[in-house]
Amino acid sequence: MHAARVHQAGGRFQVDTLARPKPRENDVVVAVKAAGVVPNLRNVMSNYGERAYLTVPELPAIYGLDAAGIVEDVGEMVSGIVPGDRVYINPGRSCGSCHACRSGDAINCPAYTFQGYFGFGPASQRIYKLYPYGGFSQYATAPASGLVKLPEQVSFEAAARFGYLGTAYSGLRKAGVGPGRTVLVNGASGTLGLGAVLLARAMGATSILGVARNRELLERVRAIDPARIHVLSAGDEPVGEWAHRLTGGVGVDAVLDTLGPGAPGQAMLDAITALRRGGRLVDVGGMNAPMQLNMHALMCAQVSLIGSLWFTVAEGEEMAAMAAAGTLDLSVLEHHRFPLGEVNEALALAEKRAGGFVNVVVMPSGQGE
Ligand SMILES: [Zn+2]
Repeated sequence: MHAARVHQAGGRFQVDTLARPKPRENDVVVAVKAAGVVPNLRNVMSNYGERAYLTVPELPAIYGLDAAGIVEDVGEMVSGIVPGDRVYINPGRSCGSCHACRSGDAINCPAYTFQGYFGFGPASQRIYKLYPYGGFSQYATAPASGLVKLPEQVSFEAAARFGYLGTAYSGLRKAGVGPGRTVLVNGASGTLGLGAVLLARAMGATSILGVARNRELLERVRAIDPARIHVLSAGDEPVGEWAHRLTGGVGVDAVLDTLGPGAPGQAMLDAITALRRGGRLVDVGGMNAPMQLNMHALMCAQVSLIGSLWFTVAEGEEMAAMAAAGTLDLSVLEHHRFPLGEVNEALALAEKRAGGFVNVVVMPSGQGE
């Protein structure tokens, strides 16, 4: 089979010929039809030597975070998944036997690792040995328990966006977003933020407030559902005042902060001022600037600040069901498809960060259906 591998830190992809994997007894082999290209990938692929702050697979490595495709082969212990099933591989791998894993809380496993991307500590190297195939490979192995089954309404290209969508969805759930609730999405025109807007709609939020910078992209976000989506270009009006004005002076129930590393801390502090008493801010973007918080004010207003990482297979199944029912509408995504041999060009396009509507995918096993 062919796989695009990285041989040098931060380097280019090179298509190599490798042996096609066979499934271990609890695993499956998936023919990868689409894999998402993450704008941050080159940064992750630079984590070798003294500059490393994430745990990444040893070189040469097969990257590719979000893979979707068709099950080709299953191990002898697998009964709920059969060859021919359309699936998304949730790349979150855990050890399976520590306290967190045995408690049904795999994301808090100390060995938690994104297959084809990065992990959070030395224990991740063992995971990469067990699951060395990222999405930029014609075939990838994964545990059957890590698969989201895809309904026919979800294309492989849209499923390659499930990482961002699921991250937003899990954060919205932790924020208590649902029918009758209001939510402010900080960074609403970005890859995570647009997904958050689509999911907040699907979850029944009655008022969705989007804050971002780019006016043109914000207007496209608003046009998705003008009755429920309101937008503010950052700087036009203080975020807290705007949010209180739109909520009858109450403030929003929830904030989903999608701002990434490098964003100013003040942008998150401003979003906190939009919350009502008892409101929750969930951070999914990983903004990394230090912030001065007035904990006394947060305590008195019973405001919660919550960090949220990735999403469970169960949450993935819920998104697939919402997409099948039509309540989650992913039709606004613009897919840009590249063959495996053009993964370098695909990453260059993704790095332009043209906003959340653009969805760059590599199609290692040919075009999707
Ligand atoms: Zn574990």
